[in-house]
Amino acid sequence: MTTPSAPEPVPVPIRVLLPGDQEVVAHLWSRRQARDGWRYEVGLPAYRNGPEGTVEPAEYRVWVRAPQHVRPVDGVSYDAVPTEYLAPPSPVQETLGPRRPSGWVLVKAGGRGPGRGGVVHAVDCEEAPAGAPVLTLERALDAAEQPGVRLCSLCGAAAELDPVLKGFDHGFEET
Ligand SMILES: [Zn+2]
Repeated sequence: MTTPSAPEPVPVPIRVLLPGDQEVVAHLWSRRQARDGWRYEVGLPAYRNGPEGTVEPAEYRVWVRAPQHVRPVDGVSYDAVPTEYLAPPSPVQETLGPRRPSGWVLVKAGGRGPGRGGVVHAVDCEEAPAGAPVLTLERALDAAEQPGVRLCSLCGAAAELDPVLKGFDHGFEET
């Protein structure tokens, strides 16, 4: 998303939850998607000692977990924060935004009835078998549209994918 001529990023304020139930407004420099969630690169306000006993303002930079360790500041837009995805974001992923799970799993099932074509789970669902191939969002949506495939309601699959499927249907109706 960044171009070689992109200007130097300007950090935006974000609240960081510190150990010991404290909270501080820090700089958010960038964020990056990891397999198990998100990491936000924050700059915490601090002091450091300079030469001859001086004290100067400083910034302590650290990667923290999101959303566990951060809270948005009211009125601040985080749209322009440099963001690194696991894979390049597609239009579908951008629709869902950064809160989506990092993958999906299709569990094949035999037999008849609803779910005979399989069940789509978020990759971290208890019912998703370990080692199953992880699907991208597009592949999961494709799978979800096959007859007999249902979305697991235990994990985020139904809640996350249903609105996307319905949202796109709606979009097609309008064109
Ligand atoms: Zn599930």
